[in-house]
Amino acid sequence: MSHVVIIGSGVVGAAIAYELSHVKGLKITVFDRQPPAQASTGAALGVLMGVISQKIKGKAWQMRQTSIQRYETLIPELETLTNRQIPFNRQGILMLLSDVSEEISAWEKLVETRHSQGWELEIWDTGKLKNICPQVNCEKITGAVYSPQDRQLDPTALTLALVEAAQHNGVTFKFGVAVLDSETSMIESSLQCCHHLETTEGKIAADWFVVAAGLGSTPLTAKLNQQIDIRPVLGQALQVHLEHPLGNPDFQPAITGNDVHIVPVGGGDYWLGATVEFPTNGDEIPPNQQLLESVREQAIAFCPELATASIVRTWSGLRPRPEGRPAPVIGQLPGFSNVLLATGHYRNGVLLAPATAHAIREMIIPQGQGHGA
Ligand SMILES: Cc1cc2nc3c(=O)[nH]c(=O)nc-3n(C[C@H](O)[C@H](O)[C@H](O)COP(=O)(O)OP(=O)(O)OC[C@H]3O[C@@H](n4cnc5c(N)ncnc54)[C@H](O)[C@@H]3O)c2cc1C
Repeated sequence: MSHVVIIGSGVVGAAIAYELSHVKGLKITVFDRQPPAQASTGAALGVLMGVISQKIKGKAWQMRQTSIQRYETLIPELETLTNRQIPFNRQGILMLLSDVSEEISAWEKLVETRHSQGWELEIWDTGKLKNICPQVNCEKITGAVYSPQDRQLDPTALTLALVEAAQHNGVTFKFGVAVLDSETSMIESSLQCCHHLETTEGKIAADWFVVAAGLGSTPLTAKLNQQIDIRPVLGQALQVHLEHPLGNPDFQPAITGNDVHIVPVGGGDYWLGATVEFPTNGDEIPPNQQLLESVREQAIAFCPELATASIVRTWSGLRPRPEGRPAPVIGQLPGFSNVLLATGHYRNGVLLAPATAHAIREMIIPQGQGHGA
């Protein structure tokens, strides 16, 4: 039996654990120095911008498509298996446009491309927007793009359900255990093999090691002398409360515009976010209160009623962004035969978790092998 060790139990590590739990003949252990969904995942808004993204071909689009499709079956599957509810907004994503015709022509092209790929996407004029989403009331808005098949979900609820479902399928989780170091040896002149990991609870041997440690991936890969440089980008967000939902209570899509999301989470509550703040001095990013306030102001500019909402809570998290290369980083750690990277998902880790899990499974078990658990 092959032993797979996964380091990290954010949404990415948990999705991989659940995906691999369906493969016959694998023993799977997940280590996290914290409880699940505490790091970047715990701060995420869960907006899944797939069809509405500008990615139209290659791996970037394939991964989005795989994830969007998989979520439709994954959510009910996890809810049945765990008896947990995962808030999953199936009313789509509405993107507000505030630029002139040039932008519209690019969107028209995307609508055409998506139709040819079998996906729906609609362009709304201001009349239609006012009719369907009267809460949007902003002079600068020139129209909107509505993506009915994109989704939003609660990343923490999802991750906890993935962990429980994976446990149900036999995966062992060790929370509060940090991975510190590793022991390797040369297997060929060009490739090394990792044999053991040193953890706060002693040595652990395995056949495969999957690094899904977000920002923790940098020190771990540095120990293997193959540092993958993942840097933090801070995001701040807030939850506000209104006595009544905005607009039509029966149509509550996630609304996005000018990089600000207005995410309905039920009971008249909305998540507003998020800031994008880069480190200025080393990896330190002191949260900038003004930037959070400007997110709130932008949301109010779109939906003026939000000005009357009370602030329930604010929070922040660090997104893992790969330095000098596109996100995410998925594949073999250079020079190693049995260390796989599933990290650096930056702003789209929740969206891309199912596709990442699928890709890791394909690397461990080539297609068609090992079905059924
Ligand atoms: C404010 C904000 C809003 C966001 N909104 C969205 C969104 O709308 N949609 C979207 O798709 N994405 C969004 N993201 C991005 C998303 O949160 C991340 O891309 C995603 O959570 C990354 O998941 P992960 O599992 O790789 O990392 P993490 O959630 O950071 O998990 C990594 C885990 O590894 C563990 N770990 C690290 N080092 C070690 C070690 N040495 N030993 C043991 N354990 C270790 C950590 O404890 C942690 O639990 C947002 C992020 C932020 C901050």
